[in-house]
Amino acid sequence: MTPQQEAPITEDGVEPTQPPPTQHAALNTQHFATTAVHAGERLGGPAIMPTSTPIYASSTFLGEDAAALDAVLGGTQKGYVYGRYANPTVVALEAALTALEGGVATAAFGSGMAALHAALLLVEMQPGDVVLAARDLYGASHALLNTLFAPNGIIPRFVDCNDAAAYSAALQEEPHPRAVLVEPISNPLIRVLDMAGIIEQAHAVGALVIVDNTFATPYLYQPLVGGADIVMHSATKYFGGHGDAMGGSVTVRDPAREATLRSLSKLLGAVLSPFEAHLVHRGLKTLALRLERQCANALAVAQWLAAQPTVAAVHYPGLPDHTGHAVATRQFRPGAYGGMLAFEIRAADRAAMFGFIDRLRLLIPATTLGDVYSQVSYPIMSSHRDWSPALRRRAGISDGLLRVSVGIEAVEDIIGDLEQALRAA
Ligand SMILES: *Cc1c(COP(=O)(O)O)cnc(C)c1O
Repeated sequence: MTPQQEAPITEDGVEPTQPPPTQHAALNTQHFATTAVHAGERLGGPAIMPTSTPIYASSTFLGEDAAALDAVLGGTQKGYVYGRYANPTVVALEAALTALEGGVATAAFGSGMAALHAALLLVEMQPGDVVLAARDLYGASHALLNTLFAPNGIIPRFVDCNDAAAYSAALQEEPHPRAVLVEPISNPLIRVLDMAGIIEQAHAVGALVIVDNTFATPYLYQPLVGGADIVMHSATKYFGGHGDAMGGSVTVRDPAREATLRSLSKLLGAVLSPFEAHLVHRGLKTLALRLERQCANALAVAQWLAAQPTVAAVHYPGLPDHTGHAVATRQFRPGAYGGMLAFEIRAADRAAMFGFIDRLRLLIPATTLGDVYSQVSYPIMSSHRDWSPALRRRAGISDGLLRVSVGIEAVEDIIGDLEQALRAA
């Protein structure tokens, strides 16, 4: 029986009193199963302008007609065809990130690592090419270079980028690096790189500069405005900011790199879902407010910690005795030193640190950072657990070191929690 012959009734035998809300009149005479599939979709109707970009949960997008679809697929007309190529919710986030970083184009990814992978591929290196990377890079970034790129002939060269002489020497070494990968604020010791010098010297030997700006965020520092070529983020951290979404982004300064970035995103396929894009874009709206509070809280916490006799050292660029204080003051947003700090409990071993972490009631021992919640991370247990004790000692990562991502709570409560946990130490 064809749809035309069948009576327009539902499968449970009830005559529909209202036709389904659709412009497609033919649906009224279709089988229930067909109506269930198409009803409500592609309504057209009066133009609506949502204040906030909705979640376009659609894997494909249709053209007005076949010719329009052909034009979009051929690249002669802008538009949407397939979710892996572009999605309006994701594009809205990408536009926001391009504006915040002062770049020309952004591609969003499913995680920070996917974004870093794309950023490195964007350099279009050949076997034998060198990537010069900061030694205190995020752990997985280290691993990406060593386990995925090195076996394919790309040579990672690690150097302490805070050591100006060592950095210069590593740039001059033949073959000169094709790319330099750095983080303006390092993990876990919160060291600050003098980015102007890093970028200028890298460009002098023809290397592109990739900046992992996850810790600083464009609220503190905009690498592309400072002359860097590619900036990437783990959007899982400050951009989302609420611990409920994972994502990453790559933003470029040179318009000539946009097409390569787009095609890389299509081929890697690690695209951001519209649901996560919506959450991250929502997070961006309060990025400045959150960071303003996080910077103020972090400074107060750092000052308080520095006055405690049981605390051996505090690493926070907002403190005048921090090695990066002058650079941070010149380089970052005036008065802002970030929401990340680290401190060392005097003579604390692993067991004492476990005790301290377990006594915390407000600060969360979560393996992430940049959220509205205050979070602690124990480097020798998490980010640097695979480093040998000798290597950790050389890098200045002691058994008593704890990293804090300061949240937006009332600072008295954050300090109060640290105080009660320290008192028993
Ligand atoms: C978390 C993080 C990454 C990786 O991001 P994911 O979203 O976890 O993939 C890269 N760099 C830095 C500095 C990070 O903190």
